[in-house]
Amino acid sequence: MQYRSLQSMPTKQSLLGFGCMRFPLIEGTQEIDEKQAEAMIDYAYQNGVNYFDTAYIYHEGKSENFIGRVLKKYPRTSFYLADKMPGWVGIKSVEDAKRIFEEQLSRCGVEYFDFYLLHALNKEKDYEKVYLGAGVKEYLFEEKRQGRIKYLGFSFHGDEKLLKRVLEDDDCWDFAQLQINYLDWNMQNAKTFYKLLEDHQVSCIVMEPVRGGSLVRLPEESVQLMKEEKPDQSIASWAFNYVCSLPNVVTVLSGMSNMEQVEDNIKTFHNFKPMTVREYEVIQQVVENYLKKGIIPCTACRYCMDCAFGVDIPAIFAIYNKAAQNNDLPMMVSGSRGNRGDAFLAEYQALTAKHQAHQCTACRKCEKLCPQNIKIADRMFEIKQLVSAAQVG
Ligand code: SF4
Ligand code: SF4
Repeated sequence: MQYRSLQSMPTKQSLLGFGCMRFPLIEGTQEIDEKQAEAMIDYAYQNGVNYFDTAYIYHEGKSENFIGRVLKKYPRTSFYLADKMPGWVGIKSVEDAKRIFEEQLSRCGVEYFDFYLLHALNKEKDYEKVYLGAGVKEYLFEEKRQGRIKYLGFSFHGDEKLLKRVLEDDDCWDFAQLQINYLDWNMQNAKTFYKLLEDHQVSCIVMEPVRGGSLVRLPEESVQLMKEEKPDQSIASWAFNYVCSLPNVVTVLSGMSNMEQVEDNIKTFHNFKPMTVREYEVIQQVVENYLKKGIIPCTACRYCMDCAFGVDIPAIFAIYNKAAQNNDLPMMVSGSRGNRGDAFLAEYQALTAKHQAHQCTACRKCEKLCPQNIKIADRMFEIKQLVSAAQVG
């Protein structure tokens, strides 16, 4: 395992970090499969992973309890635990932030957090109102001075103007967490954001390196291209190597959901070598193949859930994207590349009726929560039309 250090303070954090938002679930429920997840964490720890990233909202509040309990068996100084202040859950005053912070320490069973983040900054007005106006940012800096936070940063889903504002506001950020992967490098302006961190000498932690798994489920022609180039390496390893090749990246988070992924990631990170010119050319071709398919850029983060009307937004987008990858969208929208959409229709109809796109009332509440700025209601309307087209056949 490779270890890297923050620019602001010496650390020794593993390049692979364990994201705690996608633990395996007990089938048919939203409950963490604790036995399986604990075995995964133990394996990662024993193979050099020392960075674990949880949040107040992950697994409906149960991720913190779980990771805290599992890490209890290891010496506190042998791992870094990261947690986040969720500015959008009704924090109106610094007292609310204090209550949440204490609750997080208690849920995790720790005296301090190593890394602590303002979670998912995405709108200037929220940053102004909650973090500045209500004094939450100042409170967190005070916790850092008191030692209950070792390194303070923020995770980010906003635009360039907001990132400049946050970076210029304070010169004491230790790190920022950005969504970086080879697709978003240009598509979501990740390149600009990354360079801004470099300019401000703020270290970068990467989230969504495989875009919620979508850079693993690539079109067949891309899979072949990668396999011809590196037959022994997994498709996911390309995405990890890409972000690990950025020198200001200190840790890359992976929200692993099964032991196979943990083992594959450990192998990738143990054998990491910076990308070659030829590998960048392959990635470029893969990006072009991907964009041709018209995929919805959903990362399955579930921030938009639960929809009050029952729509299972990430599940529906996953069905759509799979059909788009396989050229199985009905003709009506996909033009010459589509067919009747039989598999698409079958998967859609296998969803319980109360979770289908047909329940969408276009209230647009979910759109305010989506870090990818997806026009969810419009896409649901489109999917309803596709289903009708597939039914007509
Ligand atoms: S726009 Fe549709 S999917 Fe989104 S919250 Fe409203 S009803 Fe649910
Ligand atoms: S629609 Fe947006 S918020 Fe919802 S799961 Fe997808 S990326 Fe996340």
